[in-house]
Amino acid sequence: METSTPTPSAERISRWRWVWVLSRLAFILFVGGVVLLLWMSDRADKEERRATLISDILWLEQNLRFHLTRNEELLGRIDQPHTASAAAFESFARTAFGFESGLRQLIWIGQDGVVRFAHPVIMDSSLVGDGGESIPSRQSFMLARSLGKPVYSRAYPYVGNDWQFEVHVPVSRAGRVVGVAVGVYRIRDLLSDSVPWWLAERYRISVTGDSGRVLGTRSKVESPVTEEGYQVTFDPPGWGLALHAVPYHAPRPLASLLLSASLVALAVIVLWSLWVLRRHVQRRQTVEEQLRREHAFRKAMEDSLDTGMRARNLDGEITYVNPAFCRMVGLPAAELIGRRPPMPYWADDYIEETRAMNDRVLAGQGPEEGFELKLKHSNGQVIDVLIHEAPLIDAHGQHSGWMGSMVDITERKHADERARQQQERLQSTARLVAMGEMASSIAHELNQPLAAISSYCTGAANLLRSDSSAAAVLPALDKAVEQARRAGQVIRRIYSLSRHSEDRFESLRLAERIDAALALLEGDIRQKGIRVVLDFQAQPQVEGDPVLLEQALFNLLRNAAESMRDTAPEQRQIAIALACAEGYALLKIADHGCGIGTDVADKLFDPLFTTKAEGMGMGLAICRSVVENHRGRLSFEANPEGGTVFHILLPLAPQ
Ligand code: ADP
Repeated sequence: METSTPTPSAERISRWRWVWVLSRLAFILFVGGVVLLLWMSDRADKEERRATLISDILWLEQNLRFHLTRNEELLGRIDQPHTASAAAFESFARTAFGFESGLRQLIWIGQDGVVRFAHPVIMDSSLVGDGGESIPSRQSFMLARSLGKPVYSRAYPYVGNDWQFEVHVPVSRAGRVVGVAVGVYRIRDLLSDSVPWWLAERYRISVTGDSGRVLGTRSKVESPVTEEGYQVTFDPPGWGLALHAVPYHAPRPLASLLLSASLVALAVIVLWSLWVLRRHVQRRQTVEEQLRREHAFRKAMEDSLDTGMRARNLDGEITYVNPAFCRMVGLPAAELIGRRPPMPYWADDYIEETRAMNDRVLAGQGPEEGFELKLKHSNGQVIDVLIHEAPLIDAHGQHSGWMGSMVDITERKHADERARQQQERLQSTARLVAMGEMASSIAHELNQPLAAISSYCTGAANLLRSDSSAAAVLPALDKAVEQARRAGQVIRRIYSLSRHSEDRFESLRLAERIDAALALLEGDIRQKGIRVVLDFQAQPQVEGDPVLLEQALFNLLRNAAESMRDTAPEQRQIAIALACAEGYALLKIADHGCGIGTDVADKLFDPLFTTKAEGMGMGLAICRSVVENHRGRLSFEANPEGGTVFHILLPLAPQ
């Protein structure tokens, strides 16, 4: 059964999706919370204002009631002397008005219903002596008189928009109702007397009748009012009177405004910062994704490399190795990173050499063309590597260390060595075979004349022993001389065979023969770490045998390479210069080798002269005979820089 596991990047994406969902949820909750808070604060404000309104209006209603009750008591205390004359009544009335009682008129009605006194006397109101028909609230009078209790009349219009109502207070003496004291209230005046200024500042206070009609108002200006007002019934005046208060538009408290503004600002800031954060995170995610892709690509590339990569900081501490390098030295990355010289992979027999090269590289003096080193695999096997070091430049353009790439050339070196040895074996075998052939052909050719000479000499000797005359010996001797001459001819022929090979001559480029000879020696030269410097100032054409010339050049170059066996590696150099002068091609082969001592200089071109244990001493002899065979000259001199310079002069091919 197949199970699919989410990739790391899919996991990351789903995790981020959750974070965004959560942050959105948190933001919605936050904004919801802010709105709720604002709404609740507004509601609390409203409720508080309403509670204040209710308590204020209840207080006002009580205050009014207190006024009315006090006036009822005052009117109930009207006494005989007060109703004895108009003047006494007037003085009583003045006292009653003096308390800001809200009363606008006092009327004294006798128990017969006739108005006795009124103060002040108002023309369109009840007149003194009136039989009572003109009293607007006759029923109230009747009721008060019959009940013996204060009774309030229905509100009735007075002048213009003014409305008024009356209170009828029966006055008893000795248990008998002697009259009714009537107090007249003008609603507007009652409100202005009993509503304190601070209340009037806050509310428009009005008294409404049973049909809802406004009978009187106390307000500062006719400014628009907000919100619902509050109404309480205004009893005992009865008859549907109600007290109504509507608050004026009050500015919201500064603290509440500031709180609301800061909450809104906070929400905006949170929204903005979330948006900025989201953009930032999105950009970051894109960059991270690119980086991850780049990193994966580079890692795949590095992992697939056969070249070992190793980075070091300026102190030589390893900071990075790739898998190929780990394979090369057989150590895991964890064991290599952080290591400083000497490294565990330095070959034991080459520690000093390796350390010197390491110091050169760290000092910035490593060979640009790369260098070869011997390293040690963890299994003890020594490997040859070709190393190229390059400066490591960090993101700020600073030189932060060295990056080395290493190629394992162990196999190649072994192959080169094998090829070189094989070639050497082949060459020596070829030389032996050639010499053997030459020797057998010489032996074969010389065998006959020598045998003849031997037999003629034996015959001559026998003749002389048998005392024959000298004349008898002469023919045998002549024959022997003849045979000796023939032997000389044989040798000359063989010699001319090797010398007169001009039939095989052709026009050739000397530079090409040099290249061919170098190619034959390439493995040897590389193994010895020799630098070859070419200075071809001309491309001369000569007439010659390409194989023989190549062989001669090969011998000279090999001698030069072998002479530098004990030369310091950095000094090992063969300089080859080619030029033309006066109808000759001039070739110089200079080495920095051991040089040629005066004791051996004379014998150098002698066949079989050698100073090498494995040498044959034929190389230079063949060289000279080849060069001379080409009508040229071979010579040598000491190199002023140490070593030897061989000169070859060859006539240029006719144009
Ligand atoms: P062999 O192959 O034995 O070296 P050669 O004829 O090539 O024979 O050389 C003869 C001797 O000349 C060598 O053994 C060596 O001592 C000397 N010789 C030849 N070339 C050089 C050279 N370039 N530098 C120093 N000595 C050399």
